[in-house]
Amino acid sequence: MAQCKTTLRLESAEQSASRGVTGLAHLIVRVYGRSQLPHGSDCLFCKIVAGEIPSTSVLDTDHAFAFLDINPLAAGHTLLIPKRHYTTIDEMAPDDLCSVIEPLAGLVSAVKSATGAEACNILQNNGTAAGQVVMHVHFHIIPRSPRDGLGFRWNAGKYSEHQAEQVQQDIRAAMNKTGRNK
Ligand code: AMP
Ligand code: ZN
Repeated sequence: MAQCKTTLRLESAEQSASRGVTGLAHLIVRVYGRSQLPHGSDCLFCKIVAGEIPSTSVLDTDHAFAFLDINPLAAGHTLLIPKRHYTTIDEMAPDDLCSVIEPLAGLVSAVKSATGAEACNILQNNGTAAGQVVMHVHFHIIPRSPRDGLGFRWNAGKYSEHQAEQVQQDIRAAMNKTGRNK
């Protein structure tokens, strides 16, 4: 079983303000030697982690980084990313994934509290066909409120007879094959 070990330090609004960080961004910030981390040389989010491209960061741990989406679906729309470069979530080892999502619950709570949102969508576009544009794994945290006008096209279908059982078997067999069924 993967163990989550993340070092996270809360920073006061005054400390953040002294570094020029204000608003939602001051909620949770801590910088750990960013430049040492491996990154794809041409990856936008790796450059953000390395501090080569500016971002409005809200969280910084040993393994995870979060910042405001530059084109938000709502104020407080936040992206949580691994510091290490991965293109899609299925490339990630359990420990790596665990250390990235460990702060997710706290981040969701902070975003809700800071924005007054009632709820959040957690969205992870995994691969181009799923709408992923920036090819570095990221989780969208999207604040939601009643009647905010955001919606998803959710064209739900139905399984034909026995189809669900077949799909179930196929997924289980694939999990067993890769040994990632625990
Ligand atoms: P996705 O379509 O899931 O790959 O989402 C990529 C997200 O990254 C989009 O919501 C963009 O608005 C966001 N984005 C792109 N460039 C930046 C940037 N420099 N800083 C913050 N967010 C960005
Ligand atoms: Zn990257």
